[in-house]
Amino acid sequence: MTKISPHHRPAVRDAASIGVAEGIALAIHEHRIAPGAKLGEDEIGEIYGVSRTVVRAALQQLAHDQIVQIERNRGAFVAQPSLREAHEVFEARALLEPRTARSAAERTTPADIAALERHIAGEHAALAANDMGRAVRLSGLFHIEISRIAQQDTIARFIETLIARSSLIIALYWRRSSALCESHAHHALLGALADHDGQAAEELMRSHLVDILSALDLREASAPPRSLRAAILGEG
Ligand SMILES: [Zn+2]
Repeated sequence: MTKISPHHRPAVRDAASIGVAEGIALAIHEHRIAPGAKLGEDEIGEIYGVSRTVVRAALQQLAHDQIVQIERNRGAFVAQPSLREAHEVFEARALLEPRTARSAAERTTPADIAALERHIAGEHAALAANDMGRAVRLSGLFHIEISRIAQQDTIARFIETLIARSSLIIALYWRRSSALCESHAHHALLGALADHDGQAAEELMRSHLVDILSALDLREASAPPRSLRAAILGEG
């Protein structure tokens, strides 16, 4: 008889490390810490008054969420997808998502519409609360939901990977909040899906992706001259 071996949790997730991870994630999402910036363990430990173990667990969590990169012997850094990768990710999305939206329009049920409406409401709430990280995540989920409705599992998996990467790119490089998927764009898409209008859904998705890309600041970033302490604590 085979026995399923119990999984070990990858990191200790206690309240302290979750708090540190959330604080750093917020500073990254609000662009107080620049892409590529070094996240020194000692400095973070001092800022939050926590042990190295707690800092490491927090950085591991952020690495799992892909907004931090941990490099052997060098330490942790804010992720820094290249500008070329950013363009490539959006080109790939433009190849896949408009056609997927067309397929979704042919299959959308009232239950799907209700689920998408809940998504949009969640995005609004996150934006109203100034929770950029959550808003970016939810607007990505809206796109994943459309690929699920389209019932194209293989393409849906590609899209999911692309969304994860583009959520990071949006979080790091947004120039105006419309990069977080303007709600009117999602409303218009919802309308096309509810009307089973595949043509409109395809066109709306195509222009929506162009709009997101144009709302990103993809010039070579110049790091803001402030200390990690000031950046994390939102001072100065
Ligand atoms: Zn969107």
